[in-house]
Formats: sequence, structure tokens, C-alpha cells
Amino acid sequence: MTGSLAGRLEEVRGRIGSAARLAGRDPDSITLIVVTKFHPVALLHELTALGVRDFGENRHQEAQQKAAQLAASGEEVRWHFLGRLQTNKARHVLSYASVLHSVDRPRLVDALDAAPPPAGENPPAGAALPPTPCFVQVSLDGDPARGGVPEDRVEALAERVCASRRLRLLGVMAVAPLGADPDASFAALHEISLRVRRIDPSATAISAGMSHDFEAAIAHGATHLRIGTAITGNRPPRG
Ligand SMILES: *Cc1c(COP(=O)(O)O)cnc(C)c1O
Repeated sequence: MTGSLAGRLEEVRGRIGSAARLAGRDPDSITLIVVTKFHPVALLHELTALGVRDFGENRHQEAQQKAAQLAASGEEVRWHFLGRLQTNKARHVLSYASVLHSVDRPRLVDALDAAPPPAGENPPAGAALPPTPCFVQVSLDGDPARGGVPEDRVEALAERVCASRRLRLLGVMAVAPLGADPDASFAALHEISLRVRRIDPSATAISAGMSHDFEAAIAHGATHLRIGTAITGNRPPRG
């Protein structure tokens, strides 16, 4: 990995702009989420100094710690939770996450709805907490080990999210299957997105595109890119 953090961030932003224009889309309609998993909080401070406000993390403990550290230094950022969520930990994620990208089963929605409000956030009686925006994560290759709801159960899960008190549906999310053509994968995700919009016309967002395939994702309508190594450089070994 060559160049500085600022240089890599600038390069990725430039490529996002070019890919958006090529697709006839407004670059401002695309949110860049910088994925900082396994990196120390010092890197996040460098990124906030460069104007980054959207961070992606995939492990609850690490995300919670980083959220507390950045909040303590007065940084106002948005946390995007990308990882597998255990039902017993899910409600804790709601206390710091701005967006959940990995809602992949009805039981998880049930667990979130049944959970009491996070400690210290008890609203006055009768007042409702604002629901947390979320994506339904779709498995494009049907491999349950990699997370995501199988394609034929996407609509049922989207309906469950729409009926939820604690969640608001933004759209669909997926990771392109390893070894598959990203163009074909993201075209399939776009078709699934159109099906979900028949259930909730406001659920138009698409979370797709990583370091190696974000230009293909933009061509197929991605609104939220989750980019790690192309900006941060290689990740340190998993802590
Ligand atoms: C790690 C991760 C990313 C970023 O991957 P890069 O290849 O480093 O860009 C994106 N999405 C999810 C769900 C991830 O876990």
C-alpha cells in the first residue's frame, strides 16, 4: 500500500465521483463509509481530521469502545454496524449505532423489538425512541456461513422490519460472493432492491461495494459504499 492516508482517501473519493458520473448519478447521493475494523482509534482521529464522518465496524465490543473514545474527544460521527449480530447483544448496538447494515433474520428483529430501551436512555412514559435505520442483508450465494437472508425470504424479512418499533428499513445490503463477477452480483442485488421497494417504496438505499468492487456497485445503484483497505491500507491482524 503506497501513499498517505489523505492521498488514498482523495483517490477513492475521486474514483467514486468518476464512477457516479459515468452512471449518470449525483456523487453526493452516495455515502462513503470508511471501514476501520481492527485499526486503532488513532487512525479514526486521523480520518475525522480529513473530514470522514461515517465509520464501519463489524464487532460489537470494538465498535462500542471506539464509539466511547471518539465521543469522549467530542467527535460527532456516525457508526455503521456491519457484522453478524447475536440476538442477546443486538440491543446494545442500538445505543451507539446510527445504522445497522446486517439485519438478516426475523428473530433478530423480534429480539430488538422486545428489548428494553438502553440504560440511561429511558424516554419519558409514552415517548417513543426514534427507530434505528437498517438494511436487510441478503445472501447472494445462499451460503449461510457468510451471513444474510436467502433471496426467497427477503420480502418476509423486509415486512417484519417494516412492522418493527425499533427499526426503520432503508433498503438492502450484500457482500459480493467470493470469486463471482461483481457486476452480475450487484445487478442481482438491484433486482432484489426493486422487489423490496414494492413492500416499502421509501426503502431505496443499497449498501454494496467494497475496496475491490465499489465501481461496479455504483454502476448498479449502490448508495452506501463500505470501503476499508483501499483507504486504510492493510488491516492489522485480528486482535
Ligand atoms: C471488512 C468489510 C468491508 C470492507 O472491506 P475492504 O475489502 O477492506 O474494503 C465491507 N463490508 C463488510 C461487511 C466488511 O466486513
